[in-house]
Amino acid sequence: MTDRLTGLGTRARLEDKIARLIAEREEDPAPFAIAIIDLDGFKPINDLYGRTAGDGILKQAALRLRAAIDDSSMVVRLGADEFAVLAPLVFSAAAARHLASTLIEVLSAPYDIGARSVRLTASVGSSIYEHADETTEALIGKAETALYEARRTGRNRVVFYSPELVEATHSVTRIEQALRRAVSNGEVEPHFQPIVALDSGHLLGFEALARWTDHDLGPVSPGLFIPLAEERGIMPDLSRLVLEKAADAARNWPRHLFLAFNLSPEQLVDQSTAREVLEISARSGLDPRRLEVEITETGLMSQPETAAAIIGEFKRAGARIALDDFGTGQSSLGRLRDFPFDKLKIDRSFIASIMEDRASEHIVRAILAMCTGLGMGAVAEGIEERAQARRLAELGCRMGQGFLYGRAEPALATAEFIHLRESRRLASLKRT
Ligand code: C2E
Ligand code: CA
Ligand code: CA
Repeated sequence: MTDRLTGLGTRARLEDKIARLIAEREEDPAPFAIAIIDLDGFKPINDLYGRTAGDGILKQAALRLRAAIDDSSMVVRLGADEFAVLAPLVFSAAAARHLASTLIEVLSAPYDIGARSVRLTASVGSSIYEHADETTEALIGKAETALYEARRTGRNRVVFYSPELVEATHSVTRIEQALRRAVSNGEVEPHFQPIVALDSGHLLGFEALARWTDHDLGPVSPGLFIPLAEERGIMPDLSRLVLEKAADAARNWPRHLFLAFNLSPEQLVDQSTAREVLEISARSGLDPRRLEVEITETGLMSQPETAAAIIGEFKRAGARIALDDFGTGQSSLGRLRDFPFDKLKIDRSFIASIMEDRASEHIVRAILAMCTGLGMGAVAEGIEERAQARRLAELGCRMGQGFLYGRAEPALATAEFIHLRESRRLASLKRT
């Protein structure tokens, strides 16, 4: 009943203790809580730094969990990177949530492995025993369902079990199956959203955004299927498919237009990413100097060294790197110094409020000043109104993207759009 590596109890020990608590509480109906904890991003670290390093992290995690709970509680190791806490004196959902947040916090501090240190986050699913007819299995199953939901909805968070979750889980499984089928049938398409020069309105390039319409489900929002693809390991295939199609389309655009595409965080911990992307662009005959790779700060977080290697490979091939959604997520200004970004994309939450909110304007102003100082371009995302564009231009922002200039459109419509805009541009050049 003891785990060799960490010295913690095993699943058998947990089940045993829960069964005893349930029996004890038959008379006394006080609830108690369990939490199942999963280390986010452990597997790639294990693959990258080796088993010894992985074991070291698990031992440190076990020590931290043990130190974080009170004497009446117990922590066990359930599986590879999964732990569970049983808390007999936690009676309410609020208290369980508080406990779970503490656990995430202690697990989020850096881990030393040899001379390096790495960071991980954790996802937690929690459930409370409250009915006399509940079994050990049911209680653990509920926490597992909640954990699953925590992972699906972005990780690094606590989800508390509720009956509605079960239904959501079923429909997610259906969507997952449909998405796998769509990817292997080549049915996910890139659409292209224009990025323009704010002063002249001239086209600079397009960002490829994945679109998927299922036969039965209809159009599925990228806000749903992208995280799902990341969670279920579909992202590498999906990304390859979208990029292949996007590169094929972009090859026929005028040469001065760039193609921007998004890399998901998972792809930045995989050393083969840059090579694969560059191979795709080579195969389709798209000059890598027309590629712009968009990455988010979250993508740089877990393994800065791997990310830096990937970015280096892109830069050597002549591709540019843009830091996406800047100002949301886990920003660290240090990162701007450490990575050779060519562009920074200011998140649309700041742009949306720039006309009403002084604070947003000050933040945008500061970001722009910083970009100038660091020699980086700045793109304002999510411009919907002329007034916003004008204010941004006044503040010195040179590039913009948003519904004002166009939504993401399929390859064919994009080719027509370019044709129209280019003939207008050439006509105006002739006139001047
Ligand atoms: P993102 O990279 O920040 O992409 C911009 C998102 O903002 C797009 O949403 C776009 O439609 C939306 N947007 C653009 N202009 C406006 C505007 O003026 N107003 C408003 N309200 N929204 C605007 P979309 O297409 O739903 O994509 C959501 C996210 O999904 C993207 O955010 C990106 O992170 C991810 N994504 C999409 N396609 C791919 C892909 O092929 N690979 C990867 N890794 N991620 C992708
Ligand atoms: Ca983007
Ligand atoms: Ca963005």
